[in-house]
Amino acid sequence: IRERQEQLRHTAATTQDGKSIELLANIEFPADCQAAMAAGAVGVGLFRSEFLFMGRHGALPDEQEQYQAYREAVEAMHGLPVTIRTVDIGADKLLDAATQGRSVHDQSALGLRAIRWSLSSLDMFRTQLRALLRAAAHGPLNILLPMISHAAQVQQARVQLELARQELQKEGLPFGLVQLGAMVEVPAAALMIELLLDDLDFVSIGSNDLTQYTLAVDRANEAVAHLFDATHPAVLRLIAHVIAQCQQRGKHVSVCGEIAGDPQVTDLLLGLGLESFSMHPVQLLAVKERILHANTQTLSHWSRSVLASADPQALISQHALEVQQAA
Ligand code: PEP
Ligand code: MG
Repeated sequence: IRERQEQLRHTAATTQDGKSIELLANIEFPADCQAAMAAGAVGVGLFRSEFLFMGRHGALPDEQEQYQAYREAVEAMHGLPVTIRTVDIGADKLLDAATQGRSVHDQSALGLRAIRWSLSSLDMFRTQLRALLRAAAHGPLNILLPMISHAAQVQQARVQLELARQELQKEGLPFGLVQLGAMVEVPAAALMIELLLDDLDFVSIGSNDLTQYTLAVDRANEAVAHLFDATHPAVLRLIAHVIAQCQQRGKHVSVCGEIAGDPQVTDLLLGLGLESFSMHPVQLLAVKERILHANTQTLSHWSRSVLASADPQALISQHALEVQQAA
């Protein structure tokens, strides 16, 4: 098994019909880049920057601390792209009470979380954007905005990014160019994706929150865990819609929620046309193994029947069984 894994690491993720698939890593801290590289990831698709803000018992990380963390990640990936999400505090990821200090805000799932908090706390947001722009001087860096639900949020973030850039320029501090993308993890964003794309360089689908908000199921609540299903027909239709719209408009689209790392769902996502997956590094080789066996042309036909089904999970499980038997 070790040998097979070692071999897999160095194998390009190409399907049977010759389609090249991008496999990226989700990380929480710069040190996780080692695991990403070891797993053969071709970049970081999601750096959850909020982990720098959590569990601190005090002040938020300042510009220098953030700059060093982002730079460390960029350098550890040796020229491979690193997508860093601006702070996504809220719901299951809470600030320490001491860190909140006097700026206590509503961190509930429908509250002032993620981009909403950033846009209401512009000093904090600008500090992060400055740190990101400075880190971009050291290698390819993309900025990802969490919980976007209004086009105006993307536009406001762009304004802040431009202001941060101008500040750095005036101060003579080196910075790099960045691409700006949005998480699609609120049903509103998925349903009106074409209205957001003009302002975006790329999109990343967060299937975890997309499932939570589409199904009205708290992702951290054990009592409703049995209702949390990223392969629910409504969620799958939103994902399929976003992938199709992005491809039609030539925008890079990735999935970075848990389903991207679930080998049972790999064939379905390939069938829907997905070419970029971002996941926890431990999942990467299992997903790559699926990709090497997949034929996206056959899967495209099959995935349409999954989308039309009232019970997609049954078709997905049956397909997985057939694949296993054929192997
Ligand atoms: C998601 O919501 O799918 C996602 C990738 O973000 P997080 O799990 O950090 O909320
Ligand atoms: Mg999310």
